[in-house]
Amino acid sequence: MKKLLLYLTMLSILSIWSCEEPATLLPSISGCTDEFSFNYHPDANEDDGSCMPMHGCLGWVGGYSKSGQIISSLGHAAYDQKFWKEVAIQRAFFQQIPAQVSILLEPEPELKNAYASSDGQIRFGYYMFWDILDQYGELPVASILAHEWGHRTQFHSNWNDYNQPAHMELEADAFSGFYLFLAKRWAWSQIQDVYQALMDFGDYNFNHPQHHGTPNERYAAARLGVELGKYAVENERQFSYKELHDIFIEQIRTQIKPRSLEEKPVEYSEITFPEGVTDEEVRKLFPRE
Ligand SMILES: [Zn+2]
Repeated sequence: MKKLLLYLTMLSILSIWSCEEPATLLPSISGCTDEFSFNYHPDANEDDGSCMPMHGCLGWVGGYSKSGQIISSLGHAAYDQKFWKEVAIQRAFFQQIPAQVSILLEPEPELKNAYASSDGQIRFGYYMFWDILDQYGELPVASILAHEWGHRTQFHSNWNDYNQPAHMELEADAFSGFYLFLAKRWAWSQIQDVYQALMDFGDYNFNHPQHHGTPNERYAAARLGVELGKYAVENERQFSYKELHDIFIEQIRTQIKPRSLEEKPVEYSEITFPEGVTDEEVRKLFPRE
């Protein structure tokens, strides 16, 4: 009887072991298991809650299959030339802010994206480019690229006084507005039209309140950049990145965010670039470190 009991005990221990065996054969790999997420990890079998939605300008996550691949061309010589010319203008404007710009072939057309990363990259999506162009023309491309260069400025400068992700996004919009007015000499109405287009371009989640901010907030942030650009020209005042950041983040915290609680769209008056200012004079106003 004792022997039988021992035998049964051993059997049950063995059976417990054999039950657990598959788990020891398959080590758990934690990561994002949602294949529609930006950082989908194909080998992960345990979701660690890190999944990031695909759309919007999120950082590059190397090695993940859904991130897409770098390609050398938009597949159209004239638009390649225009795109790289725009990159060169922005590189001259955002002097001292390094960025390696490349064209990203997203894994699927519906996963279109454009983003900046902390390790120095700006990736502009192939499908992103062509979708924007088809629907809204060329102007929003410069605006998105400048928004990403704004993110590069944030990463490069190691600013970390943001209370929420939307603050970073709105500041990137302010940098974009500052650039479009100062370097491209766009009028406020043009910039506003571009932002309207981008916010209609819902796939990019440009208007996701938790991510990029509400449309009202985004207009206000772009407007802030334009107003500061106007101030810079009229007063021949060159700003440092830090000065711009201090002004932008203060306004975002105290003015833009509280104001955006009002549902009503804000009406803005037109601002145009002053006449008689030479390119050389404007170049002296490009921000510096
Ligand atoms: Zn962004």
